[in-house]
Amino acid sequence: MFKSFRGGIHPQDQKQYSRDKAIETMPVPAKLVLPLRQHIGAPAEAIVAVGEQVKKGQCIAKSTGFVSSPVHAPTSGKIAAIAVQPHPVFGTSMAIVLEADGEDAWQEGVLVERDWRSLSNSDLLEIIRNAGIVGLGGAAFPTHVKLNPPPDKKIDTLIINGAECEPYLTADHRVMLEWPDKMIEGIEIALKLLGLNEAVIGIEKNKADAVAFLEKKCQGKPIKVAALETKYPQGAEKMLIRAITGREVPSGGLPADVGVIVQNVGTLAAVSDAVSHGKPLIERVVTVSGGLVKEPKNILVRLGTSFAQAVEWCGGLTGKAAKIVMGGPMMGMAQAGLEVPIVKGTSGILALAKSDIGGGKERGCIRCGRCVEVCPMGLAPYLFAIWGQRDNVEAAVKEGHLLDCAECGSCVYVCPAKRNLVHYIKLLKAKNAAKRK
Ligand code: SF4
Ligand code: SF4
Repeated sequence: MFKSFRGGIHPQDQKQYSRDKAIETMPVPAKLVLPLRQHIGAPAEAIVAVGEQVKKGQCIAKSTGFVSSPVHAPTSGKIAAIAVQPHPVFGTSMAIVLEADGEDAWQEGVLVERDWRSLSNSDLLEIIRNAGIVGLGGAAFPTHVKLNPPPDKKIDTLIINGAECEPYLTADHRVMLEWPDKMIEGIEIALKLLGLNEAVIGIEKNKADAVAFLEKKCQGKPIKVAALETKYPQGAEKMLIRAITGREVPSGGLPADVGVIVQNVGTLAAVSDAVSHGKPLIERVVTVSGGLVKEPKNILVRLGTSFAQAVEWCGGLTGKAAKIVMGGPMMGMAQAGLEVPIVKGTSGILALAKSDIGGGKERGCIRCGRCVEVCPMGLAPYLFAIWGQRDNVEAAVKEGHLLDCAECGSCVYVCPAKRNLVHYIKLLKAKNAAKRK
């Protein structure tokens, strides 16, 4: 019996395109675009000037608050511009444009070898913060904040998210298979910071090789592996916590409210790189896939590389894409084109054909109740369409628990009437946020 949660759906996982492709390092492109907003929280502030020469690993934008994160030069070169540029999440954002000089030369003193066991917790948190590490699963929440929960939250469980439940994505799968030592060291650092003795890695059973491999690798270490049912959205934090601990995060609450911190596998590998080797977050693993990508791959790519350059490195497209997505097809962000930069939260780039995305004309609700059956948050999704059409934000929030919706899209996936329920949910949330402001 595999661990799981109530509700959820079983879309085709489509991981066959790239699951067996080892991580390939992509060459540094001639131009990198580095948005100052790469994380949840306050945007970073540029500390370089146009025309300045910078080295790889040099901090080029400083964080501007506790919930904020700095940005580092992914290669050496010249600052060509600081200007508004396309952004895969926000449409546009201020960004630093870096012209690579081809030397790829590290800034002196950045790379250092350190023994994390000899460092204090405040030193470790400072290193993680200064390295610009944020959640690489897609949420991009600054890691130093997550690993330093408020004192009134009693944390007793660290869960490592290796579920990777979104179709097509295989970057985390490859990290678990290819970088286990870095990931395990990152877990041990997180355990020290949280004062815990054991962590659990949750992995969906469609990655049976990673489950078996890590069970062996973690023998004798304070780390257990939990095989999870393959079901979407198994990797959403609240579902993962339910599956592994049986605990329910309360309505409007956070994982820390039930004593849990969740960290993504790639994030912990980045923590190890930063703490033990001084390496800031300047690159990440991205899955480039979808029915239209000629040669789907998992690539290690410098931040600021454009989607177009990454797709080109994977052989280009075989036809006109019906949809370009950053992240997975269920919760990812649709893109207007490929001229956007890879940011810290870019777990995947998908180029999908019409046949990959289904669709159809939206019709009236037939009250079949399927959306209610699959909603992992126990909500009644069909009501959001009604409240959305009537502009009844108050009822959606108070009676429908709108803010608990994870926007997972499971309700849309099963709806026979093709109701775009997430559209109404997003609209209601935006109106609620505007009202509160
Ligand atoms: S209502 Fe929200 S949480 Fe529930 S299935 Fe729909 S998108 Fe997911
Ligand atoms: S699944 Fe679609 S048709 Fe069925 S109740 Fe929900 S919104 Fe209505």
